[in-house]
Amino acid sequence: MLGIESSCDETGVALVRGAQLLGHAVASSVDEHVRFGGVVPEIASRAHLEALLPTMRRACEEAGATLADVDAVAVTAGPGLAGALLVGVAAAKALALALDVPLLGVNHLVAHVAVDVLVSGALPERSVALLVSGGHTELLDVRSPAGTGVGALRVELLGQTLDDAAGEAFDKVARLLGLPYPGGPHVQRAAESGDPAAFAFPRGLTAAHDLRRHPYDFSFSGLKTAVARQVDAHRRAGGEVDGPFVADVAASFSEAVADVLARKTVSAAQDRGVQTVLLGGGVAANARVRGLLAERCEAAGLALRVPPLRLCTDNGAMVAALGALALADGLGPSPLDLATDPGLPVSTIVV
Ligand code: ATP
Ligand code: MG
Ligand code: FE
Repeated sequence: MLGIESSCDETGVALVRGAQLLGHAVASSVDEHVRFGGVVPEIASRAHLEALLPTMRRACEEAGATLADVDAVAVTAGPGLAGALLVGVAAAKALALALDVPLLGVNHLVAHVAVDVLVSGALPERSVALLVSGGHTELLDVRSPAGTGVGALRVELLGQTLDDAAGEAFDKVARLLGLPYPGGPHVQRAAESGDPAAFAFPRGLTAAHDLRRHPYDFSFSGLKTAVARQVDAHRRAGGEVDGPFVADVAASFSEAVADVLARKTVSAAQDRGVQTVLLGGGVAANARVRGLLAERCEAAGLALRVPPLRLCTDNGAMVAALGALALADGLGPSPLDLATDPGLPVSTIVV
């Protein structure tokens, strides 16, 4: 199964055989977006166009395979940036047609979950997945067939962010602290020398009345505003936004994000009676998010599965993994005239 990912700013291609990763390559246009402080869709689309064939070549080389060895092609059909998705889907259609193999247009979010099979083997029959990236913060109920049942892979959205995604919050807070884009890694570095209890930042949607209406939803815009107020107050008091202040804000902010993510994920797993939690998306790179979730899962007797970081951020392996899983599960193939869907709902695994 050859997988192609182009939903945002990473061009990814990978080859898998079942749950075995044979080779993968990723090109990122993130450097081209830095001076704009966020992903510019037009630039991302053009970068995909330029990177796709070289990335495909690299993935094949790493796998020791040629296109003639490809039995099926999977591609991200959505959600994502419309123009960026089109590049990958056009390439996948051309390949499937030329090689006369099945085409599978798959869901990017479900692929973030499915990638874990390449590392830890088959998904458990039931699990709760937390997906945290620049564009998404979602809690999912995942059901996967035992063995190779047909049509049993099901994903249900339990909750999501009502405003900013967790990664977006990291990026915005980085900007408030004068740190470069993408902010996540910079905030993490600053947080290392800071005090996570220095500021009592709000935990969005965790008050009793919010929990009743939004048990599994998230909100990070209030947290971002609280950070902005803290920075303003510090400046008005004549302080510089640097050194220990930045470290303390970064640490306290990261603590607030990690706390809410871990709390809601563990309670979703408990409410649903599942034993396994899956973590995916670029924010899984955050040491405090991973660490606190691991602590709370252990205390609750839950197993936590986190793929290696290079497979947490957008890549082709996740798409190929889901393609293989879906095909084995009797889903697809997709029609050659499949449409991209920037807002594809998570319940649609294959279009
Ligand atoms: P999508 O949301 O469609 O999956 P994306 O490109 O935003 O696309 P990823 O590439 O998975 O998603 O993740 C990027 C996000 O992860 C950015 O917001 C970045 O700041 C955040 N991030 C990366 N490393 C860290 C880190 N160490 N701590 C916190 N956030 C991080
Ligand atoms: Mg990205
Ligand atoms: Fe993603």
